[in-house]
Amino acid sequence: MDTPQDILRNLGLNSSVLTGGTLIARSPIDGAELAQVREHTVAQAHSAITRARQASQAWRDVPAPRRGELIRLFGETLRQHKSELGRLVSLEAGKIVAEGEGEVQEMIDICDFAVGLSRQLYGLTIASERPGHRMMETWHPLGVVGVISAFNFPVAVWAWNSALAIVCGNAVVWKPSEKTPLTALACQALFAQAMQRFGDAPAGLSEVLIGGREVGEALVDSHTVALVSATGSTRMGRQVGPRVAQRFGRVLLELGGNNAIIVGPTADLDMAARGIVFGAIGTAGQRCTTTRRLIVHESVADELLQRLHKAYASAPIGNPLDSGNLVGPLIDRVSFDAMQTALTAAREQGGKVTGGERVLADQYPDAWYVRPAIAEMPGQTDVVCHETFAPILYVMRYKEFGDALAMQNGVPQGLSSAIFTNDLREAETFLSAAGSDCGIANVNIGTSGAEIGGAFGGEKETGGGRESGSDAWRNYMRRATNTINYSRNLPLAQGIKFGE
Ligand code: NAD
Repeated sequence: MDTPQDILRNLGLNSSVLTGGTLIARSPIDGAELAQVREHTVAQAHSAITRARQASQAWRDVPAPRRGELIRLFGETLRQHKSELGRLVSLEAGKIVAEGEGEVQEMIDICDFAVGLSRQLYGLTIASERPGHRMMETWHPLGVVGVISAFNFPVAVWAWNSALAIVCGNAVVWKPSEKTPLTALACQALFAQAMQRFGDAPAGLSEVLIGGREVGEALVDSHTVALVSATGSTRMGRQVGPRVAQRFGRVLLELGGNNAIIVGPTADLDMAARGIVFGAIGTAGQRCTTTRRLIVHESVADELLQRLHKAYASAPIGNPLDSGNLVGPLIDRVSFDAMQTALTAAREQGGKVTGGERVLADQYPDAWYVRPAIAEMPGQTDVVCHETFAPILYVMRYKEFGDALAMQNGVPQGLSSAIFTNDLREAETFLSAAGSDCGIANVNIGTSGAEIGGAFGGEKETGGGRESGSDAWRNYMRRATNTINYSRNLPLAQGIKFGE
């Protein structure tokens, strides 16, 4: 089996950036040190932003379909290195191998999408009220796009942003999570390979800044960075959003979720149980779209809970590199402590908790494996309304559908939601304006595992941003409205006569 160092070498990483640095990259699998990564200073961050601005000024003149060719080559490079990069995601973020590779597949998918998009960056033609006039919209690159990303999707979030931003004619400066610097450096090395094959892409088109909050703040405060796309906790969004707004920059926020599944009395319980288990314990509860709340009709609650307890009891927990395991470790001790604090609060608030304890501590004293928890709650208490980034499923029962909907919408976050039902009225009400208030609302599938073709993001404290598919590309461009007069007169809009 390849050692982490072999994988890094195969992905084209130069050992000089992996030794002697101040940022210690550790694997959550066993706490072992993977590398000592060099961090960027704030001054280096500013230089990177300047390089990116210069690159964007050349790149914006390259025809968009030609820009798409670079992303096509990058997608090809990713296909060649899918299993290695996926393994590195597992090593650094602790995802099971299938999910690590799945994340790289998401990168490949968004590259394919962006290549097609590079020939479809269209604007409208609009009827003018004035004779001999034409009105239209054109879309132009923004310049430099800053990307700040979270540890739990260490490669896909950057790809969602940068594949679109680059075909739209921008340069990208990326500040990955300080918990996952290696996957970021690997992505940068693979992108450099694609740049080399492409031939004449300007240096500085894609920059990576390794470090913590301070380098992130350099992006946030720089007037050169036209858009800051920030993915992470609501706490981070509360800091970043107002700071970017202060300088009238654009901001795209993808923040925490508190996602619920409603299970109605007519639901296919087999499907529901599978959807809930994948959503609640997949990625050890560390997805923004993780199912954190189950709102179940009282008539099916006992049976569904029985199935869930059975599935939880048999879910293999352990080293995510071993393909037999379904639940890997939490990212670190802070995360474990936050889970224990939430479970204590749940008990204090009347909850009956099963699971949640640390496991495999003898085998992995420096890693944090837990048994996923189910907490049956007397109602949607305070702790249920917070996102705890760990595998805790809060279960609430309901009698009336209206109460279930009120519970679903009764939290500050608004990312993903789902209903399992075979009742058309319930399903359509859930999707209607009076239904789920989330950015993602699903019927008979769970809350996690979105496809890249749709716009991804959420409402309320999730931040309102949309990334990935549909028309999310517009976030990375500015719109100009153009009116062209091809007549010999100068009529004014609204029929105004001015000095005639
Ligand atoms: P985090 O908020 O701790 O960190 C995210 C990133 O923000 C990191 O790169 C961090 O260095 C940076 N950062 C933090 N404060 C900053 C500041 N003041 N200025 C600039 N940069 C700053 O989040 P995390 O623990 O890495 O990730 C988990 C969180 O991310 C969860 O809340 C999860 O729901 C959320 N998330 C959301 C989505 C989404 O699409 N909605 C996707 C993935 C993760």
